[in-house]
Amino acid sequence: MNFVDVTTSEGLLALKSGVVAAFFIAIFLAERVWAAARRPDSNRVIKNGLLWVLNALMSPLIILPISAFAAAHALNWRPEWMSGPAVLLFDLILLDLYLYFWHRLNHEVPLLWRFHEIHHLDEFLDSTSAIRFHFGEILLSAVARGLFVFLMGIDLFTVLVFETIVLIATLFHHSNIRLPNKIEAGLSRLIITPSIHWVHHHAVHADTDSNYGTTFSFWDRLFGTRSASPRQLDMRIGVEDKTDLPLTELLLRPFQMRR
Ligand SMILES: [Zn+2]
Repeated sequence: MNFVDVTTSEGLLALKSGVVAAFFIAIFLAERVWAAARRPDSNRVIKNGLLWVLNALMSPLIILPISAFAAAHALNWRPEWMSGPAVLLFDLILLDLYLYFWHRLNHEVPLLWRFHEIHHLDEFLDSTSAIRFHFGEILLSAVARGLFVFLMGIDLFTVLVFETIVLIATLFHHSNIRLPNKIEAGLSRLIITPSIHWVHHHAVHADTDSNYGTTFSFWDRLFGTRSASPRQLDMRIGVEDKTDLPLTELLLRPFQMRR
């Protein structure tokens, strides 16, 4: 039997895809058994799935080469001693901090919000929201992250481990899984849980522009962007004063002129 060789980037990539796919299926099924909020009758799961198909097609052609190129040509300023598990952990935390600010910029810079808004227009949250992104946001994120990886001299192994963690964290914090309150409260001290991230999707501006963290929950506390609102299972999800759109309109919306 052939096992995946994780010492190569191809092996690591295969492992990453396998782990993320298994986690997605597990969460998707768990949401149907232990749902927190009542699922609406709509075709949003198909729409979210189709947006993901576009991203999945783009990933090996454009996104992965950007990460690989950035890591392969990264600035070589790191001294010899900067290697090993402690530095891997440091880089993973550093990348999560980077992602906190990148997500925040996606809300604060109008051009970036045009693309990120497509993710927020979803009117319910579950594991399929975690794969619903406009391809333009995926592309912009890859370029920005590539630049950060290049400047920080981060290697491809670390980037692939980070991307795996981000996908798992994103699936988890969008999920509609009913967790025991004590477990959720305990986890939320360290990591972003559904109760924190659902508030980020509350269709009220002040809440949408808060709770930017992806994996660790301390960045929002540190930078004063943690919302005080608790999650209500019946709170309106989406963008204030807006409603979700059909797929073709979602794809075109970021490029349209607006008054
Ligand atoms: Zn957001």
